[in-house]
Amino acid sequence: MSVDAIVSLKQVHKSYALGETRVQALRGVDLELHRGEFTALVGPSGSGKSTLLHLVGCIDEPDSGSVLFDGTDVGKLDDNARSRLRNHKVGFIFQSFNLVPVLSVYENIELPLLIHPNLTPTERRERVKAAIADVGLEEFAQQVPDKLSGGQRQRVAIARALVTQPLLVLADEPTANLDSVTAHRIIDLMLELNEKRKVTFLFSTHDEKLMVRVARTLHLQDGALRP
Ligand code: ADP
Repeated sequence: MSVDAIVSLKQVHKSYALGETRVQALRGVDLELHRGEFTALVGPSGSGKSTLLHLVGCIDEPDSGSVLFDGTDVGKLDDNARSRLRNHKVGFIFQSFNLVPVLSVYENIELPLLIHPNLTPTERRERVKAAIADVGLEEFAQQVPDKLSGGQRQRVAIARALVTQPLLVLADEPTANLDSVTAHRIIDLMLELNEKRKVTFLFSTHDEKLMVRVARTLHLQDGALRP
């Protein structure tokens, strides 16, 4: 594992039970992600992108092979320790935004900080305000998500992922529910945050047009990374 690797996967296999059989979702994936990188994971639907993001993000464990996250062997952790690692070091952005409809933009972004007990209320407020400013939603802080466009909702989700200052942000098809102009704006925003705030991103997409925007592209096909 190189010095600046945040995540290192070695010969990772993952399958799911499907009736009497098993679906092989990942078949021997080797991968390193480094601090400051902006990486696109590209592949058709069913190629294993979500499965790979779940393993990188310590949501799930492999059947075999190893996942090292920030030097910790994730396979050796119990569920609680794995959740703690995930809550403190990983930010997630989802295709369908996953915002809480009854909470305001501000409260949605504040939510993940409520389990960070060492922050004072003032520090928490400053973090939330900075995250809102980073995604350009100052005017919308008191709105509920229903009042916002798809692109704005995804900005809220990006701010929520960043507010804990995670080591790595994972985005599972973050642009799939957006029109192409908005999709490019969301990628622009992620690229800007990568450059200015040094946020490390791994995002998945099946849209070949988006991957040309990105320095590092990984191609997943039938559960394996193309060489
Ligand atoms: P992608 O994100 O590229 O669409 P996935 O990682 O979701 O790919 O899925 C990879 C393969 O694993 C697919 O064949 C899918 O049907 C299967 N799969 C994913 N999750 C499950 C699950 N929970 N149970 C059964 N099969 C699954």
